[in-house]
Amino acid sequence: MSKHTGLGLSTRSILAGEAGNLSYQSVAPDMVLSTSFRADYGASYSIEGQQQEDIPFFYTRWGNPTIQQLEVKLAGLEQAEACVVFASGMAAVAGLFLYELKAGDRLVISDVCYAAVSEVTNELFPDLDIDVVKVNMTDADQLREALTEETRLVYTETPANPILRLTDLELVVKEARKVKARVAVDSTFATPAATRPAELGVDYVVHSLTKYINGHGDAMGGAILGSREDMEQIRRKILIKTGGVISPFNAWMIMRGLSTFPIRMKAHEEHALEVAGMLEEHPNVTQVIYPGLPSHPQYELARKQMDNFSGMLTFQVQDGERAAKLMAEQLEVVQYAVSLGHQHSLIYYMPTDEMLESTFLLTDEQEASYREYAGDGIFRMSVGLEDAEDIIRDLKRILDQL
Ligand SMILES: *Cc1c(COP(=O)(O)O)cnc(C)c1O
Repeated sequence: MSKHTGLGLSTRSILAGEAGNLSYQSVAPDMVLSTSFRADYGASYSIEGQQQEDIPFFYTRWGNPTIQQLEVKLAGLEQAEACVVFASGMAAVAGLFLYELKAGDRLVISDVCYAAVSEVTNELFPDLDIDVVKVNMTDADQLREALTEETRLVYTETPANPILRLTDLELVVKEARKVKARVAVDSTFATPAATRPAELGVDYVVHSLTKYINGHGDAMGGAILGSREDMEQIRRKILIKTGGVISPFNAWMIMRGLSTFPIRMKAHEEHALEVAGMLEEHPNVTQVIYPGLPSHPQYELARKQMDNFSGMLTFQVQDGERAAKLMAEQLEVVQYAVSLGHQHSLIYYMPTDEMLESTFLLTDEQEASYREYAGDGIFRMSVGLEDAEDIIRDLKRILDQL
């Protein structure tokens, strides 16, 4: 897949992977929904009998013209060699784990990452004899101590969902290399508008396409990006055989959403900065965490590693439960709902005790770091594309009542 070097992010968002139907001279890409494709006589029925270079479109679980266009576009945006798209972010993460990890291996994973990822490693991996070691990735000593010869994969997320703590990717790559471990990062919050982890030496970049990449809250998808060789193996060994393939319809929707990706990210960042500014000044708000604010504990790292601060922020108030109830009942512009990265502003309350019990299972030291960012509970907000003054007025109306 071409890396589209020399073209800007906006041009790549529009052009990469998009070829219209050549017989109609159409400019926009076609949506190809067919699940099967006419085969040459004698084509192998098994993927093992086919060379990647000339796998023709054969059956959509193996490959499909519309899905392939999305893969080329994503590789072009991430400046990665290749991409494999899945049905959801979790299908991509699970696929990566299945590809990389076997019994006896160690997985060193960020102590805070997307809840379902944390839960997979808590609940499924002990029975598979995979040794899971959780590490606060901001603590280089904790990381070094965890990295043994058995470590196969280091998995992190930056900014981490939900607390927006950052990981220094160059540092993690440098330490992981010493024990020949591979590094994966979930870059869903950062997006390629902010950070291109492949350029920093990360082996695998993972995305939930459901969020900023699609950007409109109406299609689920996931992706792994990395070397051509790894992606070919992931497609052969994992995607085709475990079947978490995306619908071509969703792939087309996500590709459509991507055309406006850089201008959307710019607006998300602008609006988030305005909302964060209001929150920092509001007397009933006790803490605001946003990578674009000088008050973020890792602001220097944010400036070094992120070209765009994205639209995710968190804040705390004295009585979070009461504020959450008021928001669910009274917000008009902002939606009280989970998920993120849409045109709609979304907000959700995450009480710390509950998150620690159900999902993260941390040591005392790790819990202390979690609480530095999250206190007793945070409102996680995905600042949308509505007019910033309307978002602010809606939120302020609730905060003024506290
Ligand atoms: C949403 C999310 C996922 C999971 O993606 P789905 O598309 O919902 O399966 C993984 N990581 C992060 C950071 C997310 O926000």
